[in-house]
Amino acid sequence: MLIARLIAEAGGLETRLDAASKALDAAGMPVAEASMLDFCGDVLQISLPHGDAGQMTELLVEHFGECDMLVADHAIEIPRLFVSDMDSTMIGQECIDELADFAGIKDKVADITERAMRGELEFESALRERVGLLEGLGERAIDNCLAERIRPVPGARTLVQTLKSKGCRTVLVTGGFHHFADRVADQLGFERVVGNRLAVSQGHLTGKLAGPVSDASTKLATLEEEREQLGEGARVLATGDGANDIPMIEAADYGIAYRAKPKARDAANGRIASEDLTVILKLLGIPESDWSLG
Ligand SMILES: [Mg+2]
Repeated sequence: MLIARLIAEAGGLETRLDAASKALDAAGMPVAEASMLDFCGDVLQISLPHGDAGQMTELLVEHFGECDMLVADHAIEIPRLFVSDMDSTMIGQECIDELADFAGIKDKVADITERAMRGELEFESALRERVGLLEGLGERAIDNCLAERIRPVPGARTLVQTLKSKGCRTVLVTGGFHHFADRVADQLGFERVVGNRLAVSQGHLTGKLAGPVSDASTKLATLEEEREQLGEGARVLATGDGANDIPMIEAADYGIAYRAKPKARDAANGRIASEDLTVILKLLGIPESDWSLG
């Protein structure tokens, strides 16, 4: 069984659905049922008795455009665990780029970040190289950076608070830094934070990390460790945008790529093209009347 949910624009919906159904049928994946979720107005649900999730996604994108979508091989449930990336997923910025701006080396650092997130550079060496460039920066610059530059993505707090109100555990896992992530987690309501620690000496960054590196394998290990606590059958949601999110996105039942780099998007069974993260609540079938602002 395959179930796809997508946020559909009302205009021309029937024509597009008709064309998509024909294309699915031609690919040997006949549609069993297609209807709008009655409790989430603009969510179209299409179910197939069998098929390939990747191929279904491709055909739906062809006919509905780059829309918000989730494809699962089971009836979609509210997850018991939510694990999310921070930079460019829960907040609109890359913290290290913004921090580098305070050090006057933004261009140099941002270029390395972009290449690392596209998966072109090895994560740990790219991280250590950028952290090294921050040597000598005052710790106070981080506070200023947080206050002036770092903003949650629209809907981030509602997403976290609503999932929590539904009994879902929430964990922020970042290849970024606790200096930022602890504050962001507080603001949004995450219950646990896993990230990298910037070493500080006498109020200044030393250009080194303190403790082990938090990378793609840490994100995956955190997901698995948390899932184990919940026992069998607990559904897991993971969101991210970068190459280092791919293992956790692949391991999750609902691995959602948020405005992601192509490699992360291709690894996911869900994708968000719009900016507001509350579309994830719609795709999970949680009606707006149940959303919690915390
Ligand atoms: Mg990211």
